[in-house]
Amino acid sequence: MEKVTEYFGSMVFDERIMKATLSEKVYKSLKRTIDRGTPLDISVANAVAAAMKDWAIEKGATHYTHWFQPMTGVTAEKHDSFITPAPDGRVIMEFSGKELVKGEPDASSFPSGGLRATFEARGYTAWDPTSYAFIKDGTLYIPTAFCSYTGEALDKKVPLLRSMEALNKQAIRVLKLFGNDNVRSVRTSVGPEQEYFLVDREMYKKRKDLVMTGRTLFGAMPPKGQEMEDHYFGSIKTRVAEYMADLDKELWKLGILAKTKHNEVAPAQHELAPIYKTTNIAADHNQLTMEVMKKVAERHGLVCLLHEKPFEGVNGSGKHNNWSISTDTGVNLLSPGETPYENAQFLLFLAAVIKAVDDYQDLLRLSVATAGNDHRLGANEAPPAIISIFLGDELTAILEAIENDAPYGGTAKEKMKLGVDVLPQFSKDTTDRNRTSPFAFTGNKFEFRMLGSSNSISCANIHLNAAVAEVLKQFADELEKSTNFNDDLHALIKRTIKEHKRIIFNGNGYDDSWIEEAEKRGLSNLKTTADCMPKICDKKNVDMLTSHGIFTEAEIYSRCDIMLENYVKSVNIEAQTMVDMARKEIIPAVAKFAADTASAVAVKKSVSEVACKYETKLVTELTALIDEMDSATTVLESTVADLKKIDAIIDQSAFVRDKMIPAMDKLRAAADSAETMTAEEYYPFPAYDQLLFGV
Ligand code: ADP
Ligand code: MG
Repeated sequence: MEKVTEYFGSMVFDERIMKATLSEKVYKSLKRTIDRGTPLDISVANAVAAAMKDWAIEKGATHYTHWFQPMTGVTAEKHDSFITPAPDGRVIMEFSGKELVKGEPDASSFPSGGLRATFEARGYTAWDPTSYAFIKDGTLYIPTAFCSYTGEALDKKVPLLRSMEALNKQAIRVLKLFGNDNVRSVRTSVGPEQEYFLVDREMYKKRKDLVMTGRTLFGAMPPKGQEMEDHYFGSIKTRVAEYMADLDKELWKLGILAKTKHNEVAPAQHELAPIYKTTNIAADHNQLTMEVMKKVAERHGLVCLLHEKPFEGVNGSGKHNNWSISTDTGVNLLSPGETPYENAQFLLFLAAVIKAVDDYQDLLRLSVATAGNDHRLGANEAPPAIISIFLGDELTAILEAIENDAPYGGTAKEKMKLGVDVLPQFSKDTTDRNRTSPFAFTGNKFEFRMLGSSNSISCANIHLNAAVAEVLKQFADELEKSTNFNDDLHALIKRTIKEHKRIIFNGNGYDDSWIEEAEKRGLSNLKTTADCMPKICDKKNVDMLTSHGIFTEAEIYSRCDIMLENYVKSVNIEAQTMVDMARKEIIPAVAKFAADTASAVAVKKSVSEVACKYETKLVTELTALIDEMDSATTVLESTVADLKKIDAIIDQSAFVRDKMIPAMDKLRAAADSAETMTAEEYYPFPAYDQLLFGV
């Protein structure tokens, strides 16, 4: 057995390989580009490309690809081989600096929301040297950004990098006020916990809904669901354990710090958590993780479902975005410090996050909105669609004491003065975390729990970084003018707590009373993608995002369109799949069972004069359900037809929400009832109990 320490990162062109393969001069120049974003000289690019190619060929690679993250939500790649014809009719392997730095995929079919006219449809890809190149399946992968020729971002990486830069700039201004002149950069880090389901591949193939849409569109609840809670952290079955071991190995080779694995709440549900990384690398790694998860599953006769809600009535899958801010000098700015001065700085950053989350609730909500995630948010399992922050009782009490100029704690006599007094000790609440909060402080980081399992983490982090950058800017603007720093700092924190404490909620987020309470507090509750997505175009959001250079106005409108289109298309495909399954599989199967039962009655009656009460009742009920399914299918078909007649995407999304989804629910309800009454052998595809307990 190979040692993990030996193969970890073996497929990555990382620091170690750079040092070993590049000249000192080239290495230093590349490092400057990585650390400070200085432009790369073409001679340096040529040298890096040559070293990358030699290393990749040694590892068996024959191709390279510019790997990017278009607005489809998955990654894209186009492979070119290194071969170049030589005069003697043979080939040599070549890869130039130009090919490394810039690519031109013929990518005119990616969604651009109208940003690219067709005549200039080819966006270009640009190397992101801050994320390491790697080898996968015989190809050298180069992480890249994807832009239009006029400079608009067509992907999720460009705005993510811009948001990190915006936060960096404003955080440094704030840190200077505290005398931190040695800090050169501030970065956000993320550790995304990834949930997923595993189902048997043969069973999966029999279900059109899973194959076409990634989730079951029909299916009655099994006799046993998750009520026993025996799956959560339960012992891992051999087949799953083998999958997980194989997955870890593949991820480790790619330099991904896969750390924790366990069973989740629902049967067949599992989680993988990596050790956190700088946000843009965490985003790249999470995309890769999702891809590798699916691929490794195939080798084990399994399918990895990343959909947010593969099974109705069973917990869905999310992704917890553990997020923090730290300096290049190694200080976590969301970690309470030990001196009065560190505490004051911590409280200011904490206040900034509180205000940012309150001011931009809608942006955070819409950053995680998809048709799939709509099934989770607001259901009785995931965080609600309402954004609130959990701080824990003790930290909340400290903030209250500051707000009210009151002494903190039962025994404390004096009220606290920021910048002068030490923050009272409070426990970091690491054991008793509130799992129902959408945005929870967990000691030295925030955990944003609303992301869907299939979401790219980029969107959530773009909006989070941008919102915090905006508030830090406001704070810096105010405090830079101050002539009495400690007093003004105290006043600012106090005022921020007073104005934004409505967003703090330490109670149970699943409780119905919270919905009412949140409404009283004026918090927004945007239930569906159709409700929240258009808010990105609100003036306050456009102003904020453009002022920090995260998006241009055109990019914002185009993104809104793309996200709404994704929503409409996903639901429309689901509706069509339901119609197909109902007409070709479910209704015929139930009808056959009803017919067979009815003929059995005829046979029985021909033998003797019996009532056949059971069969008669069954046939009557099934016949009623068949009619119900038939008419519900007809209604659903008509919504599919009507959707085509609607022009504006915003109207389409409202139609999907108000007409199509309710029509789907109606058909499903009838079919699920029929399923519970139909003999298993007649049913055309595996039922929930088989899918959930079949691995
Ligand atoms: P949980 O109980 O939610 O599983 P863990 O303590 O296991 O929480 O951590 C969850 C994630 O938080 C891990 O991916 C971890 O690497 C990440 N994490 C820890 N510290 C930070 C940080 N400073 N910034 C971002 N993520 C962090
Ligand atoms: Mg967590």
